[in-house]
Amino acid sequence: MGVDRQATDQTIKSAYRKLAMQYHPDRNPENQEEAEEKFKEITEAYSVLADSQKRAAYDRFGHAGMSSAGGWGPDFSSTIFSDFEDLFGDFFGFGGFGRGPRQRRRPSRGADLRYDLEISLEEAARGLETKIKIPRSETCSECHGSGAKQGTAPTTCPACGGRGQIRHQQGFFAVSRTCPHCQGMGQVIREACPVCVGKGQVSEEKVLSLKIPAGVEEGTRLRVSGEGEAGGMGGAHGDLYVVLRVREHPYFERQGNDLYYTIPISISQATLGAEIKVPTLKGQERLRVPEGTQNGTVFRLRGCGMPSVDGRRQGDLYVSVYVVTPTRLSREQRRVFEMLNSAVRVENQPLERRASEKVKDVFR
Ligand SMILES: [Zn+2]
Ligand SMILES: [Zn+2]
Repeated sequence: MGVDRQATDQTIKSAYRKLAMQYHPDRNPENQEEAEEKFKEITEAYSVLADSQKRAAYDRFGHAGMSSAGGWGPDFSSTIFSDFEDLFGDFFGFGGFGRGPRQRRRPSRGADLRYDLEISLEEAARGLETKIKIPRSETCSECHGSGAKQGTAPTTCPACGGRGQIRHQQGFFAVSRTCPHCQGMGQVIREACPVCVGKGQVSEEKVLSLKIPAGVEEGTRLRVSGEGEAGGMGGAHGDLYVVLRVREHPYFERQGNDLYYTIPISISQATLGAEIKVPTLKGQERLRVPEGTQNGTVFRLRGCGMPSVDGRRQGDLYVSVYVVTPTRLSREQRRVFEMLNSAVRVENQPLERRASEKVKDVFR
């Protein structure tokens, strides 16, 4: 075909196109037979080259599917799968144990799409309705996915005579390969639909309303059925998977449906007791710190956690208090603490092992 060994996919493709145009039987009415022979030869050569390229691509990307990176793209694994099928479809097609022409001109299901949506913890707690914009392919409404101009119909492929495959004699074997001229469809489009330029699909940006239930968590996957890529030949849409990312909160830590944080209190609040206001995901709650509260004591606020997705349970909020030891005392504060020092005494004896475990537990 006049391309060298290092030729890229693109060079091979364009070389094929050029030669195919030149030797297309329709363009050589005088010596049609010779042109047809030549055309088939070129097509075979291309199909071999194109397949080896495809194979190399598979080797390179074979395990890269299902990336966790955000954003868009057709479901990688299904793309690879169809390539793979092409590869082995061809491979097992040799010898002419007839599978007959491949029935490729039939509607096929579209690829699934993935959309990563980041939400806040508050949004995860109360649920939300939002709109998302999805770039995806849609069946061309002008040609209903056929790719042919209105009033025209696809015609039999001249390269493979409509079989969708080209046989290639190799010693004892006859190897059948997908016809690259018609991509195995057995038919070609003479006059392309002007709207989709023969592709049968157009890209569009679809705006979807999405309802996210309360209680979702990091990694929750919502399936929106039928909102993926349009299928080939007017086939059904794939599905859309919305994967939720919940932004980390500056102080709420989530474990299941429960929430945790630590709040500082003063030595006198801990000693004398106090009523303090503590934040929840819905606003504020009063927390009564009893007289004589130790550092690290954990209080539970019932029902102030996250709801479960099924709405049946409501988690709790655990508030751990942290008694702040004052630093950089003023002269007067120092006097107060000096008075305390003589008035309130603690015995500086090691705690019994069991008691000290308890203190550690509380600190966690
Ligand atoms: Zn069209
Ligand atoms: Zn063909």
